[in-house]
Amino acid sequence: MIIIDFKTKITKNFVRFQEKKVKNKYQDIYDIKGNFKDAYPTKLSINGVDQIVIKQEDPNTLRILFEDKKNLKTIYFTNNNRVVLKVLDVKENTIKNSVKVSKSPKVYKPGLNKVVVLDAGHGGKDSGAIGRGKKMYEKYAVFDVMKYLEDALKRRGYKVYITRNSDKFIKVRHRTVLANKKKADIFISIHANAAHKSKVDKLQGIETFFLSPARSARAKRVAALENKSDIRKMSGSSKKAFLESLNRPRITASHKLSIDIQKNMLYSARKIHKDVVDSGVREGPFWVLVGAQMPSVLIEIGYITHKKEGKRLFNKRYQEALAVGIANGVDSYFAKNP
Ligand SMILES: [Zn+2]
Repeated sequence: MIIIDFKTKITKNFVRFQEKKVKNKYQDIYDIKGNFKDAYPTKLSINGVDQIVIKQEDPNTLRILFEDKKNLKTIYFTNNNRVVLKVLDVKENTIKNSVKVSKSPKVYKPGLNKVVVLDAGHGGKDSGAIGRGKKMYEKYAVFDVMKYLEDALKRRGYKVYITRNSDKFIKVRHRTVLANKKKADIFISIHANAAHKSKVDKLQGIETFFLSPARSARAKRVAALENKSDIRKMSGSSKKAFLESLNRPRITASHKLSIDIQKNMLYSARKIHKDVVDSGVREGPFWVLVGAQMPSVLIEIGYITHKKEGKRLFNKRYQEALAVGIANGVDSYFAKNP
């Protein structure tokens, strides 16, 4: 018996059944409308059934396939959030004593021995950018995405530290301290963008920044917004920290990381909404990245001030898609730069 719990109520309309004969084997295939988190192709072997495969067939379809030389009878039923699939011809006691779960292909853990520090922007008295709806604060949206990202990276074997685990204020310059202390391999700060009143209907899109002296007016403007909670004159020591954090290899690595994150985040976000705007990879003078002794990026997950995008930033499914995309970007970066 296979029991799958979904987050929403499942009806028979969600399940499509088909029977096939492939060579000398019979297949019972169940396609269930839904997304199974991390559905690596999983093979279960149960005495009496040659093969049971569970996999994400496409982003919206979870496939469960029973295969056997005998023409097995399978049934299913739904009960609220649950789908139960049952093989009828197999004796209960043989299953009970011989269930062997094996994952195939072997699960690749790209994050092994890698340390990542995640920073959800703002917090506490600093709400960050403010959206159109009630309590649509940047600090909440970025925290949720950060938590999904933390989960995704941990599942892939990364060691993950986070700068805040609640709605609390942390000075911008203290955020990289943790990353340095933990000797992180990369530092990722997550933010949401805001447009000037005159442009709220126009500006939308996701973009990824890496630290450098500002080049464009646009980068300067975004940096000014994100630096707001920590305005101070550049003292001698912070100037030194700024310059030190700008060594060439680190800029190059941060640039590469930005490209991988932006590309994958966009791809994943567009699986949910095709019209997500790509605002690209940019460089900018962000305080939060100053002082990080490792490749570091700042992600703007979208414009909280945009009517449609702002709303999406508070949608759990979209938040998770962004996080999975960022995690894929991190994997991709380490695959190329081990
Ligand atoms: Zn921000």
